[in-house]
Amino acid sequence: MIKRVKGTQDFLDLTLFNFIIEKISHHLALYRFSQIATPIIEHTELFTRSLGTATDVVSKEMFLIEHRGDGQHEDQEIEHICLRPENTAPIVRAFIENGIQTIPWKVFAWGPMFRYERPQKGRYRQFNQISMEIIGAASIAEDAQFIMMLDRFFHETLQMNNYAILLNFLGCPQDRVKFKEKLRAFLDKLGTAVCANCMERKDKNIMRIFDCKISTCQELYQNAPHIADNLCPTCEQEWNAVQLQLQMLSVSYVYKPTLVRGLDYYSKTVFEFASNQLGAQNAFCAGGRYDGLVKELGGAEDQPSLGAAIGIERLMLILENYISRLALPQKQALQVVVPMGTAEQSLALILADVMRASGLCVEVLLEGDSMKSMMRKANKLGAAHCLILGSDELASKTVTVKNMVTGEEKRMPQVEVVGFLSAFAKVT
Ligand SMILES: [Zn+2]
Ligand SMILES: [Zn+2]
Repeated sequence: MIKRVKGTQDFLDLTLFNFIIEKISHHLALYRFSQIATPIIEHTELFTRSLGTATDVVSKEMFLIEHRGDGQHEDQEIEHICLRPENTAPIVRAFIENGIQTIPWKVFAWGPMFRYERPQKGRYRQFNQISMEIIGAASIAEDAQFIMMLDRFFHETLQMNNYAILLNFLGCPQDRVKFKEKLRAFLDKLGTAVCANCMERKDKNIMRIFDCKISTCQELYQNAPHIADNLCPTCEQEWNAVQLQLQMLSVSYVYKPTLVRGLDYYSKTVFEFASNQLGAQNAFCAGGRYDGLVKELGGAEDQPSLGAAIGIERLMLILENYISRLALPQKQALQVVVPMGTAEQSLALILADVMRASGLCVEVLLEGDSMKSMMRKANKLGAAHCLILGSDELASKTVTVKNMVTGEEKRMPQVEVVGFLSAFAKVT
């Protein structure tokens, strides 16, 4: 048997998945976001340029696509293509490539992303994200509104309450240059007390030491300098403003000085929505500001921007704990037409066709079994009613309608069936 690829999953019931998509689409429309879609494959360079080669995503987790070529076109260039590991860089690329002029550009997109990570609970190699981006929005008040928008969605629309908003401020590039020096001096003092990985991070991507999973490292970093304590006057003002605005909007957050986010392009505000119901993988939504990215990817002008992504699988894991609280769409009542023999099958198909045209959900049992086993089958399917068509019914243009809950049977003219069942559906 050929099995699915490691780290992927088959969705056999999309009710909750579609519910999330529908609710977030509606919610984001209230904030004037419109939906877009970008390709699943992109040039690898898009991510090496935006995320940075020193990040795990780019250095270890990319799904690279090898193109075999058809051997007929000698001028065929070798294309370095990958499966997208995230969707901010592709959306920024789309903004630049399509020459978008209307700013701020407020868009969202959802779909699968790909990262070659060790699979575990809530973490897949193919996973789905909803990405929301505002390109061309410099005001720091946008950050507060953005975080509020997400908080309202999780708290009010999805009725979640077991999560925390973690917040940090990474300053401008100049702040980070200075801070990295300070951090390096701090690490120099620690010497070899930190793990080998952190020693490597010190040279390659020093801010990422805070993501170290080793507890001895984490203990040492409790005394590390905080970037938010090392901001230029403008950034400091913005950091104060975003906190004040969140407080005024009644959005509670936790300042987490070690939150740096894994990706290179973030600046200023960064945040995560974390749930204790997810174990180690506790963030189900994360994002921040990326003021330099548009220019970095070839945009003509600087476009201060911000965005976030929601991990759909992780959100589903949380929601499954209290699914009864959610107003998930109910399945329509099922009506099962039961023709007793081949002679009644054509009539059964016609009757079902008429019923569906009136919006009823209908299954026809065409396997031609005994009455008893067909009724058992209808029951198993969860039928509300069975519509039995035998030779008597065929001759008299009637149908026997059996209520599968009460067991009550009623024979009526075929033309009255739709009216009867529609009225019944309205009552229940
Ligand atoms: Zn600054
Ligand atoms: Zn470490």
